[in-house]
Amino acid sequence: MKKRFIYADNAATTAVSENVLNAMLPYFRYEYGNPSSIYKLGRDNEQAVIDARNKVAKALGADPKEIFFTSCGSESDNWAIKGVAELMAAKGKKHIVTSVFEHHAVLHTTEYLQKKGYDVTYVPINEKGLIDPEDVKKAIRDDTALVTIMYANNEIGTIQPIEEIAKICKEKGVLFHTDAVQAVGHVNIDVHKQGIDLLSLSGHKIHAQKGIGVLYVRKGINIPNLIHGGGQEKGKRAGTENVPAIVGLGVAIEDATKNIDEKGKKITAIRNKIIDGILKIPYTRLNGDRDKRLPGNINISIEGIEGESILLLLDSYGICASSGSACTSGSLDPSHVLLALGLTHEVAHGSLRLSIEDDLTEDDADYIIEVVPKVVERLRSFSPLWEGIINNAV
Ligand code: PLP
Repeated sequence: MKKRFIYADNAATTAVSENVLNAMLPYFRYEYGNPSSIYKLGRDNEQAVIDARNKVAKALGADPKEIFFTSCGSESDNWAIKGVAELMAAKGKKHIVTSVFEHHAVLHTTEYLQKKGYDVTYVPINEKGLIDPEDVKKAIRDDTALVTIMYANNEIGTIQPIEEIAKICKEKGVLFHTDAVQAVGHVNIDVHKQGIDLLSLSGHKIHAQKGIGVLYVRKGINIPNLIHGGGQEKGKRAGTENVPAIVGLGVAIEDATKNIDEKGKKITAIRNKIIDGILKIPYTRLNGDRDKRLPGNINISIEGIEGESILLLLDSYGICASSGSACTSGSLDPSHVLLALGLTHEVAHGSLRLSIEDDLTEDDADYIIEVVPKVVERLRSFSPLWEGIINNAV
């Protein structure tokens, strides 16, 4: 078996594409003007920002006036949630509905608001990693300011019934925000048609650079600033525009939303092949619904191993992957997403996430299917956990 390099961690971040890089390069060196400056160099930069805003709006089915550039997905989430919370508190509404398996950019923001006197309801997910819109409906109260539910989960890739939730929110007169950081470029999104009031996205998940994001805010919703200062972004988000990153994001979202269905079909077929290959290993389970999931997401629990050790061994075979546990944060706690699915701490610890894209070949898939069982066998051979599992089974 010849060693390959396979990047299967696109949910963590993606490489900047050639197209994006080429579009960005002039804005670092020659087109360096400040978009607020009156002379041509400045005006050209202003135009570049306008063009990128138009591209983002088109990709989301929004009006360009509804698109605000931010520094990342986390900022967009913070701004949306804190902004709506402040806006609605003035009307006596201090209750927020979210789910148990949101990204920490949402969860830590709602926890912060709880400390500031807001009340938050966390709706559960079912064993397939899906939210029941009825649970959202039941959680909404007269004083609910906002419902924030992620579009697709970053660990298990499950795609939520966003339109149904948005409809419920509209009926109840509650604003609806969705963290679509993992969904944009992988599923078709039309914010107006789907009834989404606010949406967060991040550039580095769709082959733009790190440190650029967007918050879409439906016309008429006047949330207060998160960042105060100059008059950029129609006075709503201060800070001299990161023009190269904005230009890159415009190209990235245009490319990512091209042929979504075709790309999705291709990736789904390879993903299913890898899932089936890995599930042949005894004592494994797929986390999250098999069909209602992002085309490139694979998340499998493998009993009798530690997520961190499988990642290191896979790395020695040239495979970049991720675990269900929060190893990157230096925490030994298992993932809150996997625990919310009902997994035990031990099983949640031994989880593997592969997030693939359409550059992954059949040969790459075969390589993964060959390497993972080898690595698992090796880890289990010296795992006291595995010994316990086997002994209990006989
Ligand atoms: N929301 C989700 C679902 C994510 O997966 C991430 C990043 O992993 C974020 C928010 C944060 O995005 P950023 O890294 O741009 O701050």
